[in-house]
Amino acid sequence: MRILLVEDDPNLSRQVRSALEDTDYSVDHAADGEEGHFLGASEPYDAIVLDLGLPVIDGLSVLERWRTEGVATPVLILTARDRWSDKVAGLDAGADDYLAKPFQMEELLARLRALIRRAAGQASAELTCGPVVLNTRSGRVTVDGEAIKLTAQEYKLLAYLMHHADKVVSRTELTEHIYDQDFDRDSNTIEVFVNRIRKKLPVNIIRTVRGLGYRLEAPDGDAA
Ligand code: CA
Repeated sequence: MRILLVEDDPNLSRQVRSALEDTDYSVDHAADGEEGHFLGASEPYDAIVLDLGLPVIDGLSVLERWRTEGVATPVLILTARDRWSDKVAGLDAGADDYLAKPFQMEELLARLRALIRRAAGQASAELTCGPVVLNTRSGRVTVDGEAIKLTAQEYKLLAYLMHHADKVVSRTELTEHIYDQDFDRDSNTIEVFVNRIRKKLPVNIIRTVRGLGYRLEAPDGDAA
């Protein structure tokens, strides 16, 4: 999953970024509203964390522009603690959730997980495909209850596929959603990761759809 963080406070940005990266999200950061607007409008993020008090263009205007332009990415706004009017204005402008500063990092992470799940049409924190269970809260993957050790990149890839289990996901889409902007992207590495995941799981749930990409499929007899 790939997150855009638009926040001008350097300390808070650093803390949020490192918490997100520790959770295996790929993160792009913008420190003003103009760059934030540009990135949010041009890159496919799974969620955006948007501070409202930003230099150049304020957060509320950025959000309004995105929504006018048809950018439907889930947005969580960060508001000042005592500005209830900001929360109302933000939600009315198209925010999906808000968090007042100062906040606990755990709460930000939980709200982001919920936003990403809802946007993918998933209600539960545990995503399943046959005997494979991916817990978005703990970041653990099990097969028939047995823990499977995945690297950060393998987990990102499997998590994206499990969030979008009902559709064919192309290599390009995977590349765009598991790497941040600065990563040297090569869609061939996706195939390498997929093969490593296949080797680590005792059942094959990742089907190759020739010329299109990948689709999750539960083994015979199991419900996806
Ligand atoms: Ca600010």
